[in-house]
Amino acid sequence: MDFKLLIGGTLVDGAARMPVINPATGEPFADCPRADLAQMEQAVSAAKRAFPGWRDAGNTARHDAMGRLADAIEARFAEFARTLTAEQGKPLAQAEFEVGGSIAAIRYFGAQELLPETLVDEAGSLVVEQYYPLGVVACITPWNFPLILLAIKVAVALSTGNTVVAKPAPTTPLTTLLLGECAAATLPAGVFNTIVDANDLGGALSAHPDIAKISFTGSTATGRKVMASAAATLKRLTLELGGNDAAILLDDVDLDDVAPKIFQAATYNAGQVCMAAKRIYVPRQLVNGLCDRLVALVQSTVVGDGMDPATQIGPIQNRMQFDKLRDLCEDSKQQGDVLTGGEILNRPGYFIPPMIVRNLPEAARLVREEQFGPLIPILAYDTVDEAVTRANAVEYGLAGTIWGADPQRAAAVAGRIETGTVWINKHLDLRFDVPFGGVKQSGIGREQGRHGMKEFVNTRVVSLAR
Ligand code: NAD
Repeated sequence: MDFKLLIGGTLVDGAARMPVINPATGEPFADCPRADLAQMEQAVSAAKRAFPGWRDAGNTARHDAMGRLADAIEARFAEFARTLTAEQGKPLAQAEFEVGGSIAAIRYFGAQELLPETLVDEAGSLVVEQYYPLGVVACITPWNFPLILLAIKVAVALSTGNTVVAKPAPTTPLTTLLLGECAAATLPAGVFNTIVDANDLGGALSAHPDIAKISFTGSTATGRKVMASAAATLKRLTLELGGNDAAILLDDVDLDDVAPKIFQAATYNAGQVCMAAKRIYVPRQLVNGLCDRLVALVQSTVVGDGMDPATQIGPIQNRMQFDKLRDLCEDSKQQGDVLTGGEILNRPGYFIPPMIVRNLPEAARLVREEQFGPLIPILAYDTVDEAVTRANAVEYGLAGTIWGADPQRAAAVAGRIETGTVWINKHLDLRFDVPFGGVKQSGIGREQGRHGMKEFVNTRVVSLAR
């Protein structure tokens, strides 16, 4: 298939082409257009030209156009899902879930409107807070959920009257380009544009004077660079960055019930989830029981090509991440007791089965760093106070989970966790009407919910004497 960039309403070739690797084989399976700086400039100019028309079109017209965009994706549902599995690696059922969620995001946010709020209504004074769009928003996305992370950003940006330049991660560009094809047929020219780079245009995009806001999801290291590039023009920023989320099991937990949930929380999408359970804190007396159950789960899990319906865990998305995880496996073998996993599969592609490791020191890399893969450290604790202190003792603050039989006790522990979200007895419960985002070095700002929508608008207070 001939993938194209979308610039100013026209599907165009890139200045160059580059291969896209299927992580299940390690081999190229497609190639895609690569933009140069001049094409990035064209995309920003097109979005700037389209902005006044889209802003003034009104909520109903935007809602209708976004509905047509969602219909266009739905009409190509199977193609989106298969392309997502081929470029990202995830099992096809998870890809289908991501495509369905992306369509739902566009429909949901397309139907939302930030109406003015009356702040003061009294004799002599009426004060109203109004919201109006920012302008051109750059949406920069990572490779773990290339479609839904983009769809949420684009849905909120467009719904609130902004225009968009989207830039995917270089290893997962294709679903973004498919979205561009759907937009070419359904949105006014220039409202949505796509560029693909080889990790070389993000800096220029983040510094561009005609970009009003960067909505960025990616690593903390790159987030810092985005913030620096955006400083000169005081751009609005949403930074959804890395996490090193703790799961704390309390001593009244039912291990039979919770072990599969912890396993899922740590290994969904091969552990490449910003809010995956990345450190598991367990009362010392329960460590053996949890480890036995997790080892059994690893041994009954099918790791393989996401296109195979039997597969439960696909490959690691790219070579660089695969190499990083291999290093972490080696380091964990040196420092702790690996109970299962930690050996790469002897086949082409980037396959690492889940690893369960215990007795790691708190200073081990697998505890301190964000692994972003299915390597699960089981960490014993003696008191809940100690578990909370250790959970909070990292630079990240994205999310976390508490597991226990007594919801009130679990909620009290949750109230001491320094993150943007804490789930109790559940995980990955994300909703379009609930804001999500990090504290500390996991990010700035929130996505989704009314809070998230407000990050895509300027606020204007109109104060009237009467
Ligand atoms: P990354 O930071 O390497 O890349 C993210 C995006 O930034 C890519 O599109 C990349 O091309 C672009 N980029 C690279 N250099 C840039 C620059 N100088 N300026 C602007 N953009 C630039 O991240 P990744 O490896 O693709 O993704 C994994 C990371 O994303 C993990 O840390 C994960 O936790 C995080 N993540 C966070 C969330 C969240 O909601 N908080 C969600 C998913 C992933």
